[in-house]
Amino acid sequence: MKIAFIGLGHMGGPMALNLRKAGYAVKAFDLSDEACKKYAAEGLAISTSAAESVADADVVISMLPASAHVEGLFLGSGGSKPGLLDSIRAGTLVIDSSTIAAATSRKVAEAAAAKGIAMIDAPVSGGTGGAIAGTLTFMVGGEADDLERARPVLEKMGANIFHAGGVGAGQTAKICNNMLLGILMIGTSEALALGVANGLDPKVLSEIMRRSSGGNWALEKYNPMPGVMETAPASKNYAGGFGTDLMLKDLGLAQENATAVRAATPLGGLARSLYAAHSLAGHGALDFSSVLKLLQKASS
Ligand code: NAD
Repeated sequence: MKIAFIGLGHMGGPMALNLRKAGYAVKAFDLSDEACKKYAAEGLAISTSAAESVADADVVISMLPASAHVEGLFLGSGGSKPGLLDSIRAGTLVIDSSTIAAATSRKVAEAAAAKGIAMIDAPVSGGTGGAIAGTLTFMVGGEADDLERARPVLEKMGANIFHAGGVGAGQTAKICNNMLLGILMIGTSEALALGVANGLDPKVLSEIMRRSSGGNWALEKYNPMPGVMETAPASKNYAGGFGTDLMLKDLGLAQENATAVRAATPLGGLARSLYAAHSLAGHGALDFSSVLKLLQKASS
């Protein structure tokens, strides 16, 4: 099976590598020369354009930042730049793993269906660690038959695959999860900052809370306090990982969705504002766990 993989960022690069390691013929593309060079050095075949990568593909996977990128890639930008759907053969399966608005997933999938191309949304959870280890959780929206076609490919990149419902449902599940994650990271940071301000050792406090009723994923796998967890972005100056601006985007999607269905999401709204303030302070490119900086006195 031939796979085109578009978007070799923090997540897409390792995901594409896992597919190649599993024996698939992968042709990859990214707009960034730096990303292309990095993964060419790791052995991925790099195409000169997205259109070239999809020309003979059976499956096309995209892993891009936000709705505008996905819509721009597949549908083009009104005449001057044709959409990639024009270059994809009928009968091909498209898997979009980016986290985007459910409405955009539905719009692109409808345009794909009109050309005889099946499309599912399959956003992921599990972070860069999960992308590297091939243990991501996929939340799939689309037809059950299309998910079954995608399953062998998804299994090479992930450990859990859920069918959330029709097209767009994967995106809805993803933003519910990320709204909770964004809130949890702020709560965890707040508790750790309070303990440290009282002279507690953050490692000891983290272990106490991890094994108590405050235990959560941030304490388990992604501690926001530098030095507590060697592998967490916090211990690498908040480099890599899941950017503050990407979390801000997801919390914005959650608020748009909540407005559309008149849902009450007060903590999600507050979390979005706090990440926005953190981004405005110049930390948008840092991992989202750096939100701790908003809550802790800067060390001199
Ligand atoms: P990233 O910014 O590191 O990578 C995105 C890549 O897409 C970049 O290399 C960029 O050059 C490329 N790109 C953008 N437009 C393109 C186009 N038209 N053609 C080709 N390449 C293009 O982002 P990421 O961290 O890899 O995240 C990707 C998606 O996964 C986002 O929607 C994010 O919300 C989601 N996500 C990220 C994480 C994480 O921990 N980083 C976890 C779960 C989900």
